[in-house]
Amino acid sequence: MDPANQGLLLTYIAQALVGVVQVGIFAYFHRIYRQDYLRYWTWSFAALCVYQLAAGCAVYMVSVDRDNLGVRLLWSWLSQVASYLQVALLIAGSLSVGGGAGIGRRSLARVLAAAILFGTAVSLAYAFSADGADARLFLRVGLRFAISGAAFIATAVLLARRRALIPGLGLRFVMASFAAYGLMLLQESGFFALQFHHGKNIPGVEFLGLFDLVAQSCIGFGLIIWLAEDERRRADRATLDTERLRSFDATTGLPNRNHALRQIDADLGNGGSEYPLAILAIDFPELEGMAKWLGFPEVEGIALQVAQRLQDRTERVGRRLARVHAHRFMLSVPQRNDNASLIGLVQNLREDLLKPYVANASPLSIAVAIGIAVSPGDGCEAATLLQHAEAAAQGASHGLAFYSAKRDAIARHRMEFSAQVRAAFETGEFVPYFQPIVRSGSRDVVSFEVLARWNHRDRGLLLPADFLSSVEECGLLPAMDMHMLYEACAWAAPHSEAPGAPTISVNVSSHTFEQESYRDLVRETLASTGLNPHRLQIEITESTALADTVHTRNTLNALRADGVRVALDDFGVGFSSLAQLRNLPVDSLKIDRSFVQAALHDRKTAAIAESIALLARKLGLEVVAEGVENCSEADHFEKLGVTHLQGFMFSAAISGARASELVGRGLAKIAGHAEQYGIDFDIGCPSANREVGR
Ligand code: C2E
Ligand code: CA
Ligand code: CA
Repeated sequence: MDPANQGLLLTYIAQALVGVVQVGIFAYFHRIYRQDYLRYWTWSFAALCVYQLAAGCAVYMVSVDRDNLGVRLLWSWLSQVASYLQVALLIAGSLSVGGGAGIGRRSLARVLAAAILFGTAVSLAYAFSADGADARLFLRVGLRFAISGAAFIATAVLLARRRALIPGLGLRFVMASFAAYGLMLLQESGFFALQFHHGKNIPGVEFLGLFDLVAQSCIGFGLIIWLAEDERRRADRATLDTERLRSFDATTGLPNRNHALRQIDADLGNGGSEYPLAILAIDFPELEGMAKWLGFPEVEGIALQVAQRLQDRTERVGRRLARVHAHRFMLSVPQRNDNASLIGLVQNLREDLLKPYVANASPLSIAVAIGIAVSPGDGCEAATLLQHAEAAAQGASHGLAFYSAKRDAIARHRMEFSAQVRAAFETGEFVPYFQPIVRSGSRDVVSFEVLARWNHRDRGLLLPADFLSSVEECGLLPAMDMHMLYEACAWAAPHSEAPGAPTISVNVSSHTFEQESYRDLVRETLASTGLNPHRLQIEITESTALADTVHTRNTLNALRADGVRVALDDFGVGFSSLAQLRNLPVDSLKIDRSFVQAALHDRKTAAIAESIALLARKLGLEVVAEGVENCSEADHFEKLGVTHLQGFMFSAAISGARASELVGRGLAKIAGHAEQYGIDFDIGCPSANREVGR
């Protein structure tokens, strides 16, 4: 082999080795980053290696076995095809750098096919002509240099277009290396053109490959720098995102509690506030309990609407707005004038916030309480001011209150209590208990009244008398009512298609019932639990029903139109006129326990009870005698014609599991058939707080 060919062969081998290392690097980064351009470039440099090895083999064949045309041609063909595939893949990759549009699969297939055809054509041209050696060399080497050179320069240009998107040294280094490589190849192609033109060898051309080697290595180095820089940028971005999450609320984009406190402390500390600073805690206590029946995304949607309304306002009045709790916002307002103007401003804000929001495509009103603490009187630090404003909001019975140290102790207690109540909602400590209601005469269980119990982790099972008024003071009674409704419906739904399935009768407080959205919430609860509306009865008290507002009437009618029954609870204690009963859209009357128990001893009460039962019958209403504790009471009211009886004589309220057991037994007649059903119940034993199935 002559020394020139030897040099050429060595250069090809060295270039191929560098190429193999490059392919390894590209493939490795592609596995990590999954970027299209890395995949194309991996294949492009693999094709370059194939080209260099095949070209080396062709040179070797020329030296050792010049006459074996077939094998020589095969190596030439392989080298040509590989070299044009390399060019095509290089450009394909460059098009998708930095989020570029890239190349479609079809176009890629077409370009690759064209490269293969072109390579084949070039390798066959002058292949069999004895005096075409120079033309052959020019086509196979010179033309390839020209086309590859142009492709490398095009790649450099494409990368240059992306440089605004990709900062750092790496891309620029790769770009410059591609450009240098391209220029070198063009220059080499020029040498070959000269050589071809003059028909004689230019000395040293065979060593030009060494310069290629340097350029090729520079591309590899540059790419490593580029990807390392990319990695650092990603890490920086991730740190920034985490930082954002740590300081801002994800739903509303508002500062969170800690960030807001830092901002306010800075305002106070820098003397940034030349006026006293009023901190408003804007509380939506019902929002939390709503997650259960509206779902978390809907509740967050409401929070977002609140934030938007507050933002509109803040531009005019406030300085800083933040979401300091899932259902509480904070606004800081420099108090430029007296308290009266601050109150006016807060009242306007409150009115704005009371307007309905949209949840599940229907309007929904929610209560709002605003507590105010003003610096420096109520505190000099943001945390203290906010705490005091929150305490004031907790005690804001009319929806608006200034912080007062005296009220603070009560409010603090309330705050702790409401935190406990909220936690109890989460941990499922509030459970429905079920008190059977029996039909008069047969004394079959036909329905259950749902009564709230708090399964307190330290204090055991608590009755409503132990917690209901405190829950109401915290503004959480509607949340509690809706929680009970949901739990009770969820309990009843699986039983609701069984023969003789029970109805459930759920208590609702006046505050809950008066909410604009009450009917919709009942509907949604029925829909989400799957309970048939005919299996649900709502118990409202006489006073709630007789408030006789348009809302009461509309809600009662709407509930009944949905198939839900309505009962008038504690009837008799409100001394409402019996005449009013005629116009009330209800299905059932529950005579209060005090009446039932006094009727046997007091003639007047007996007379009233009798007329209630009579009138109700005439109006076609069901009548339930509540608090029946013994046989005499039961017999007495059965004779008066009440349709149902409820009381400890039959059973106290029992747990959901035991009520299910009872339903499972086909809702046994309790009285008189206890033994038959394995129930320890003695009909002869009056007045005992007994439970069915004990
Ligand atoms: P209520 O609606 O009049 O419920 C009947 C109360 O009388 C229940 O007390 C029940 O255990 C009790 N009772 C039933 N039979 C007898 C009897 O024979 N003798 C005696 N002495 N008492 C009997 P409970 O469970 O303590 O509930 C008290 C009140 O708490 C209920 O009176 C109702 O107004 C309220 N309540 C219970 N659960 C809820 C709820 O989920 N929401 C609302 N808003 N109020 C509820
Ligand atoms: Ca009741
Ligand atoms: Ca009652």
